[in-house]
Amino acid sequence: MEARLFALRLSLLSTQQAIAVLSRLGVEYEGEHDTEDADADSQSDGESDDWTGFHSGPRKLPQRRPPTQYRVPFEHAARLIKHRQVEMRRGFCLVPVEDMHHVAVHHYKAMLLRQMNVLCRSLLTMSSDETARLDPVLARVIASWQLEMVRQGSTSGGSSNVRARIKLNEIDSASDAHFPLCMRHLHRKFRENHHLKYDGRVQYRMFLKGLGLSVQESILFFRSEFVKVIPAARFDKEYAYHIRHSYGLEGARRDYAPFDCAQITNGPAPRHGQYHGCPFKHWDGETLRYELGRCGLPAHASSKVTTEAASGHHQSACRALFDATHRVPYAQAMAQLHETASLLGNNQVVQHPNAYVDASVAVATVSRRSGQVQRGQAEQQS
Ligand code: SF4
Repeated sequence: MEARLFALRLSLLSTQQAIAVLSRLGVEYEGEHDTEDADADSQSDGESDDWTGFHSGPRKLPQRRPPTQYRVPFEHAARLIKHRQVEMRRGFCLVPVEDMHHVAVHHYKAMLLRQMNVLCRSLLTMSSDETARLDPVLARVIASWQLEMVRQGSTSGGSSNVRARIKLNEIDSASDAHFPLCMRHLHRKFRENHHLKYDGRVQYRMFLKGLGLSVQESILFFRSEFVKVIPAARFDKEYAYHIRHSYGLEGARRDYAPFDCAQITNGPAPRHGQYHGCPFKHWDGETLRYELGRCGLPAHASSKVTTEAASGHHQSACRALFDATHRVPYAQAMAQLHETASLLGNNQVVQHPNAYVDASVAVATVSRRSGQVQRGQAEQQS
């Protein structure tokens, strides 16, 4: 977010001011001129050398034009290379002056990373008063970064390396093991009724998109249930379009992101026959207790979750459910997932249903690997 803000501010400056920002950061590159400019320079140099050898006044030094492009090491212009917007020569990018703000943003990001590392090390030696003041700020910064990671992962088809990917044939077992209560409930009701009303369909299919289901897999999944209650031709005509629309293949062709917890909890409450929404916000205490029992939660853990929900801390209640049903608490799982262990406290709440799945899958993966290591060691000893 800081880098984006920096880029936005740079875009309001003139090109030369942006270059001045770079040199204030101590970054200098070798400038180059257009061939035409260079010719013009050399001609003007030649004209100033009067062939008679006489000069009628003080000799005018030729005015050097500012460079039109800079030779930049390719790793400083990765963004321009990615979008094939720059010419490369012998390992260097020839970056036009008007594109130098991309290079400035690269250096700004590198500087932020260096400062974050310094901050990380300083936190270890800070007094508890200082950390108490900084912890909530850091937790908010990290939570919004993680949210952004989830959004980016979902809009890029789940390609981020921290995103959990669920295959279509694993969806029932994944629902029991890894889905947050809102999605678990939607999945169960969809399997039971072979149908979901509009809000539930949208909430659930966007979540599945965030899990990495392709548009074909999503159509296959919804079709397999809907055709039990409506003709296949009707599904293909009325419902498949909306699924393709969610993936940016129809209509405005926008690549929509899955809903986060704020969108779900602030969205319309489910009415009779609807199953969308957040259970910790939209269910009464009795229903919530019953469903938590269905998840196998013992009474004491269940009461902690329902107390959080009743006091309006819906996302904390969701985290409490995660903590009660996994071997590693949610905050720790997220910290390990994003390698931010030293910055996070235990107060991190669930921000996104897909982040919940990421954390749950990460815990299961670590448990499975440590089980394999232990079995391997036991076999070696025997
Ligand atoms: Fe779903 Fe978020 Fe509510 Fe958890 S807090 S149940 S993930 S909406």
